Amino acid sequence: MNKYLKIIFALFVVLIICYFFLNTVKPDEDPSRAMVESYKSECREDIKAGRDLFKRLETYSGPKNVETILAPLNDLAIILGSSSSKAVLYQCVHPNAEIRDIAVSQEKEIIKLATDIALSVPIYHACSAVDVSDREAVTQRFLEHTLRDFRRSGVDKSEETRKRIRELKDELVVLGQEFSRNILEDVRSITLNSVNDLAGLPSDYIDAHKPDGNGKIHINTDYPDFIPFSRYAQNDQSRFELYKHFRNRGYPQNKAVLKNILMKRYELARLLGYKNYAAYVTETKMIKSESNIRDFIYKISEIATTRAEKEYQILLERLRKTDPKATKIGDWQKTYFQELVKQKRYNIDSKDIRKYFQFGNVRNGIFDLTTTLYDVTFRPWKTEIWHESVEAYEMLDKGRVIGRFFLDLHSRENKYKHAAHFDLKSGVTGRQIPTSVLVCNFPGEENESALMEHSQVVTFFHEFGHMLHHFFAGNQQWVKFSGIATEFDFIEAPSQMLEEWVWDTTTLQIFAVNKEGQTIPPELVEKMVEAKEFGIGLDTKHQMFYAAMSLDFYDCDPNDLDLDATMSALQNRYSPFEYVPATHMYANFGHLDGYSAMYFTYMWSKVISKDLFSRFKQEGMLNPKIAGEYRKAVLAVGGSKDAVDLIRDFLGRPYSFEPFAVWLNDDESSK
Ligand SMILES: [Zn+2]
Repeated sequence: MNKYLKIIFALFVVLIICYFFLNTVKPDEDPSRAMVESYKSECREDIKAGRDLFKRLETYSGPKNVETILAPLNDLAIILGSSSSKAVLYQCVHPNAEIRDIAVSQEKEIIKLATDIALSVPIYHACSAVDVSDREAVTQRFLEHTLRDFRRSGVDKSEETRKRIRELKDELVVLGQEFSRNILEDVRSITLNSVNDLAGLPSDYIDAHKPDGNGKIHINTDYPDFIPFSRYAQNDQSRFELYKHFRNRGYPQNKAVLKNILMKRYELARLLGYKNYAAYVTETKMIKSESNIRDFIYKISEIATTRAEKEYQILLERLRKTDPKATKIGDWQKTYFQELVKQKRYNIDSKDIRKYFQFGNVRNGIFDLTTTLYDVTFRPWKTEIWHESVEAYEMLDKGRVIGRFFLDLHSRENKYKHAAHFDLKSGVTGRQIPTSVLVCNFPGEENESALMEHSQVVTFFHEFGHMLHHFFAGNQQWVKFSGIATEFDFIEAPSQMLEEWVWDTTTLQIFAVNKEGQTIPPELVEKMVEAKEFGIGLDTKHQMFYAAMSLDFYDCDPNDLDLDATMSALQNRYSPFEYVPATHMYANFGHLDGYSAMYFTYMWSKVISKDLFSRFKQEGMLNPKIAGEYRKAVLAVGGSKDAVDLIRDFLGRPYSFEPFAVWLNDDESSK
């Protein structure tokens, strides 16, 4: 009996232990769950803080001055700016689908609140009552721009009109997101039957594209696949097929989406008292009007014509070696033949150049160059990251942190496919350190010595240029003028200018070293520069096709607009490369939403950047004195002055087209 009791007792103890074990020890907390919950509550808090402040401002009835009205409005902009920037970033890079979805709704919420503020009659009246006549110029400018932006948002229109404006803005957010999602998610591919179809491609590309179980090779329309294939693949038919898929991403879904965006923006512009949306968006830019864009496109296209014609003939002659009857170069052939011509004429091969651009060296080289020019330093920054391949750094000026940044530089599934600088936080004096994210799709995740294309190095410098602008202009009282918050058609100029350094021997010798430790030879850089200049006439004309499409889609009543007919006509008019039937490139031209009528801004900024660069060219590219003056007069100013004025401050004269025209017409390389 005693023995049975012992067994029963032992079983009882085991049961108790099991009971406690099951009830006290839970499975590990799911870290991704915690991350989702934490982001969700951060979003809720931001919206609550913003809504509370908005309500306080709307109902405020005390004395109206800078401290009671403009300062809280600035606070509101800081909250909304940071929250919306994070939401935009997460949509593009976060590996967690739930977080991407939360980010989409957060962006919508923020835009809704921003629209409420922009259409708030009490806040507009409160701002109008603030007297800044005895304040410093930048505060006067802040009020002037704030009132201007209120009027541009329709705050002084009837209640019924304001209601419609709000509806349109909400709908446009949804449509814009749909437009980019359709592009992002539409990855198409071609199937090759044998490795012979990869002839011409670099060996690492061939290694990365092994045949599947059925011996088939798949090449998709994402940039890391598409760009080398367009440049090197000898098989014309495969290049043509991949090109057609690439030009059709987002089609047909985005045809209706884009048409809807154009219609709603047109209606919005009309309600606000403008002829069309192009007239509305250009009012606050350097270019000032849509007719100035048209003149600009015409002028640039004219300047480039002679050179483009010479270059076209060179490509055609090369094609005729294999196809004697050829009368034209197809749009899908231009990259390939330009590469062949460059190899022959300049005796260089992009594959030889790549040897000198190991990812890790390039990244460190950009840091070193920035240190040389601006006397700043970099150090790793310990913080949370959203993917294991992301790196974080701080930039210091005389020991003080003046910028923080994330480098999210390698491709992965569901990640933004292009290269971009995201301004995560804008700098506000004494309150917020500017923070940026560079998002690109470079090799080198597994191995820092992975090789980059020189064009990718150019991209890296370009995006880094945006970041430096954002950091150096991060010491502002008004967040409205902080960082790259300058006129939209000036933003690209500092970045485009920084690209010049990627073609400078002395700069390249800092970091362009091959595996054997040899530095890039100066003769190779010289040839690279000559080769780069080959094709600029053609490219400038082709860019004017994009600029004209962006303008023509917005400079009209879209009810009368035939997207396909207009696009193909413009390509045939401006680009040296004819429109390829049954392609619908507007369906994946993301800028048509983001830049609306203002794609011209890339070329416009190039004109400005050539002008700004003229001083460095004369007085030394690695001259810290000039760099210091440039930082002070141009970069640090942010949006607190008109771009036209800060350019004049740096150059000592108004901006000019001359350096651009000289560069474009210096056609040694097209002879
Ligand atoms: Zn850019």
